[in-house]
Amino acid sequence: MLWRVALLVLAALSLAAGEPQRFDGHRVYRVTPKNKHHVQFLNALAGKYHNDILFWKDARVVNRTADIMVSPEMQNNFLEALEKKGMKSSVYVEDVQKLIDAERPAKQSRASFGWDDYYTVDEIYAWLDSLAASYPSVVTTVVGGSSYEGREIRGVKISYGTGNPAVVIEGGIHAREWISAASVTWFINEILTSTDASVRSIVESFDFYIFPSTNPDGYEYTWTDNRMWRKTRKPYLLCVGADPNRNWDFHWAEEGASSISCSETYAGSEAFSEVETKTLSEFLTGLGSDLQVYLSFHSYSQLLMYPYGLSNVVADNAAELQQMVEKSAQALASRYGTQYTVGSIVNAIYAAAGSSIDWAMGQLGLRYAFVWELRDTGRYGFLLPADQIIPTSEETFDSILSILEDVQAALRSKKQLH
Ligand SMILES: [Zn+2]
Repeated sequence: MLWRVALLVLAALSLAAGEPQRFDGHRVYRVTPKNKHHVQFLNALAGKYHNDILFWKDARVVNRTADIMVSPEMQNNFLEALEKKGMKSSVYVEDVQKLIDAERPAKQSRASFGWDDYYTVDEIYAWLDSLAASYPSVVTTVVGGSSYEGREIRGVKISYGTGNPAVVIEGGIHAREWISAASVTWFINEILTSTDASVRSIVESFDFYIFPSTNPDGYEYTWTDNRMWRKTRKPYLLCVGADPNRNWDFHWAEEGASSISCSETYAGSEAFSEVETKTLSEFLTGLGSDLQVYLSFHSYSQLLMYPYGLSNVVADNAAELQQMVEKSAQALASRYGTQYTVGSIVNAIYAAAGSSIDWAMGQLGLRYAFVWELRDTGRYGFLLPADQIIPTSEETFDSILSILEDVQAALRSKKQLH
């Protein structure tokens, strides 16, 4: 009798492990806090009911919209609470599960890697390995670090010559932002295969270190268990995971991050408490003075930003960076008309201490560090349909080229000065 119970328990467990969590009837509301009390109230609500109320976009700044996913059980209470406080909201996503179901193409061919569907971390890594075999004189596989569950942060180095300045491209640090990892793999392919002379002249004068999935445990978890997972998978006292983009050791946790482990922006128990950020930071440090440019990719909101995510620290070349992002956003828009907002992190969105680009500039001393929040502006949010991977990647690559062109010009004029 006992073995039967054991078998049943085993069957139930394997069923639970095999089925990702569903989000039927979960809605995303766009809410505008009108004063500081509203901001605090929304954060307290999400803290208290973290299983039912989840930020897609944080409430941090007065008069700046927040996107909040709410379970069907909680929606009435949530709306009543908003009304009592005098906050307006609109439904941005009617049913999260419907978007999840429509995110990937109906016909999923896994025969070869491509960009009309999303791919798992194992599939991405197998593809990276295949590139090293296909382009042996240009591509080497590199390991940028490791994860809590023992995965590699695998990437590729692409180099067409010696003595080139190095660019790091970081994807997927937030697990649920699938378009980030997908676009970053597209960039790799474009760098290797573009026949456009102006593209070739830029990409062949830099060395690239490209990591599509810098939070591989979290990314895997979004496939197997919970599509909306953002953080790492390291367990903490009350909840699992820290926000790996609040965990870097530069003005760590000073603002725009949480000290509560159930929060989506939990900064971790200390700077570099997450093995992913710690090991990746060591890899980046090891690149030494070759490393000149750091590019980080997130979604969503259509923003292009530079350091800092701090209210009291300004980049000393902020004016130069501002010019670069303005030009870059124009380049991006010229292909499909997609509009981006640009600026420093703290001005364009909100304070967010402990991000990778802040660390790259503030601690490593880079002069060129940028972060993109890719498509869209919230109708799909993190669940961007796979048929937008290619157009998103194309327009974003235009904006990357614009920035690298400017960096190249700046580095050349600096050389001439010496
Ligand atoms: Zn992100």
